[in-house]
Amino acid sequence: MATDPSDEEFLQAVEEHVFGRGGTVRLTLPGAAALDRQQLLDARIVRCIETRETRDRRVPGLRRAEIAERPACTDLAAHPVDPPDDPARSRTLTLVRAGSLDEIVCEGCEGGTRDCEACGGRGGRDCPRYVDCDVCEGGPDACWECDGTGTPRTRGAARAARPRPQDAAKRATCARCERPEVACPKCLGRRHLDCPVCDRSGRVPCRGCGGRERIRHTPCAGTGHFTVWTEGIIRHTPDAKEVKRLAPLVVRMPTDATGDWRETRLTSVTDKLPDDLDPAHRALLEPELAVRDGEVRRRVTVRRLPLARVTVRDDPHRVYYAFPVRSGGIDVVGLPSRQRVLHVTARASAALVLLALAAALVVALSR
Ligand SMILES: [Zn+2]
Ligand SMILES: [Zn+2]
Ligand SMILES: [Zn+2]
Ligand SMILES: [Zn+2]
Ligand SMILES: [Zn+2]
Repeated sequence: MATDPSDEEFLQAVEEHVFGRGGTVRLTLPGAAALDRQQLLDARIVRCIETRETRDRRVPGLRRAEIAERPACTDLAAHPVDPPDDPARSRTLTLVRAGSLDEIVCEGCEGGTRDCEACGGRGGRDCPRYVDCDVCEGGPDACWECDGTGTPRTRGAARAARPRPQDAAKRATCARCERPEVACPKCLGRRHLDCPVCDRSGRVPCRGCGGRERIRHTPCAGTGHFTVWTEGIIRHTPDAKEVKRLAPLVVRMPTDATGDWRETRLTSVTDKLPDDLDPAHRALLEPELAVRDGEVRRRVTVRRLPLARVTVRDDPHRVYYAFPVRSGGIDVVGLPSRQRVLHVTARASAALVLLALAAALVVALSR
């Protein structure tokens, strides 16, 4: 593992950068530049958290043979299971507690079916075979001769004596007394009609069971049985946390590709944080590394990169950041100092206000 660049090496790198921009001062001379070392931190803690629980299972049907093929355990709490090699992977293991598997008869039905609730298991309901005619209302108006009885109250001569209303032509021949043009055109003197609901059968089948009297019992899926057992579930769930202290500015700062990050991996709770870790970062990370409830595996990746912040006495408007790069050597990024940035922004804002005023003036004049 390479060692961090020295202050001198950082200053030389910045000096070369400044020379490229026309600078002439040797930054390694006392008082020519100020250097402030800081360490960037990019740490990730991934734990594998194990939880165990039991629950009672009940599924429709006779499935003992099938469920018995699943892995079994006698004591869920003590059952040994290796956590996943990669703590970032989640995994669920379901087990059947030995001795708990059974097949039972469904108590809500008989053989998978039960009496239809809609018809009380009768398959349907009784219904009148006939209904009153809705034209003559099932009364004497059914036939002017026989009142729907089949026996005319008048004989021969009386026929002419009975008054004939204007709509006599719409009357029909009576099906009972057989006189023409006297009967209700709908029931033909019978007073009643075939029931349209049961079609004169006297019975209406139940819509719930279609007349079969029994229906399939849904909870047991019509099997009449349940398979029951106690299930143990062991879950391995990843829990990830990032702890970062990155560069103060985001412009072209060291990334994975450029910066020569130093990486240390801890996989056990007894593994030590690297010696070269900034004490402030160590204080930040240590409390995060305590063993958690249910923790069975961990992977802590601690990446750090030395960064030097350099200011040059003769060039107060810029600040330089230097850091080692993966390809070897030291990269330097020069940025306007904070005061400079604020100053430029203020000037830009003032210019925008002037532009807006000018535009308003043009609009006013063109009216
Ligand atoms: Zn059932
Ligand atoms: Zn009649
Ligand atoms: Zn009628
Ligand atoms: Zn009916
Ligand atoms: Zn029914």
